[in-house]
Amino acid sequence: MREMTSSVRAAPPRAVLETLGGRGGEALLLGHVHPDADVLGTLLAIGLALDQVGWSVTLAGPHPVPPPLRFLPGAERYEVWPRAPRTFPLVVTTDCPNPRRMEGLLEGTREPAGAVLNIDHHPDNQEYGTLNWIDPAAAATGEMVYELLRALGLKITADIAVNLFTAIHTDTGSFRYSNTTPRTLRIAADLVECGAPPALISDRLYQQRPPDALGQLAEVLRRVQISSDGQVAWLAVPRGLVSDAFVAAEELVNYPRSVAGVRVAVLLREEAPGVVKVSLRGKGDIAVNRVAHRFEGGGHENAAGCTVTGTLDGATEEVLTAVREALRGPRS
Ligand code: 5GP
Ligand code: MN
Repeated sequence: MREMTSSVRAAPPRAVLETLGGRGGEALLLGHVHPDADVLGTLLAIGLALDQVGWSVTLAGPHPVPPPLRFLPGAERYEVWPRAPRTFPLVVTTDCPNPRRMEGLLEGTREPAGAVLNIDHHPDNQEYGTLNWIDPAAAATGEMVYELLRALGLKITADIAVNLFTAIHTDTGSFRYSNTTPRTLRIAADLVECGAPPALISDRLYQQRPPDALGQLAEVLRRVQISSDGQVAWLAVPRGLVSDAFVAAEELVNYPRSVAGVRVAVLLREEAPGVVKVSLRGKGDIAVNRVAHRFEGGGHENAAGCTVTGTLDGATEEVLTAVREALRGPRS
């Protein structure tokens, strides 16, 4: 089922179509920690599509829909569960490589004889489902779910199109990153024909900053640092400098990433005393997920993350040392 190297994308496996086809049933669509647009857009798209054909669908995850994504159609149905209330015969996860990222909810909701359908595009997916459809060639899980709904013959309504377009839009950095393929753009075009308005979605994602955001941005941007050889740019954000809502709404790692000549960009954010959340971005030839794996994180070759324990300064030093080693090592 894995399609690691081929540029021709894998179609949805027959077993996946059989699980979601037929006469319907009861399903939990389960999200991961700090849900982003790819996981939410795909879960909501599957949920809205299964609704149409008589499934009983529950959508939930360990953390709430962040405010900038509350415009996604169906987002109000997404429940936040501190722990699993009961089990489900079918649990569907999307965009989630590792069951730990569901904070115990998968263990608490799966049934011994039930099915877990794991749909993802992360190359390091741990295949924790009873059925795993993993396609690292997909720019976003949104592309895979588009293919899935088409293969199932389900109608892509305007609401579904908004969810899938947003998933693909964000995972490709608005169609700017190297994962954007002709296929990505064809799918996006079809989603626009189905009723996803690109201008409205861009407005909701990027033009809804609260008035105090630019001042916080100024505070953060002056902290960007660049290595003497110009290849690494990083941004370390101490706790309390800016609001949590601001950090959640902004892709701050994009600023060090935007500097010419930078091959690896790093955002280090002190989440709690002694806990530093790290985002890594590579441009082209560096597999930053290898760096993330050294700290028990993961992700894609060009976009990965991990959590490091220690002070902000200590974590910065450790991660930058690992990045420098990766830059010296064989090119991937
Ligand atoms: P971001 O930097 O936007 O939080 O995440 C970029 C990518 O890295 C995403 O694909 C995400 O799944 C992955 N990622 C981020 N943080 C972690 C982490 O702590 N553990 C793992 N396994 N993956 C992460
Ligand atoms: Mn994704």
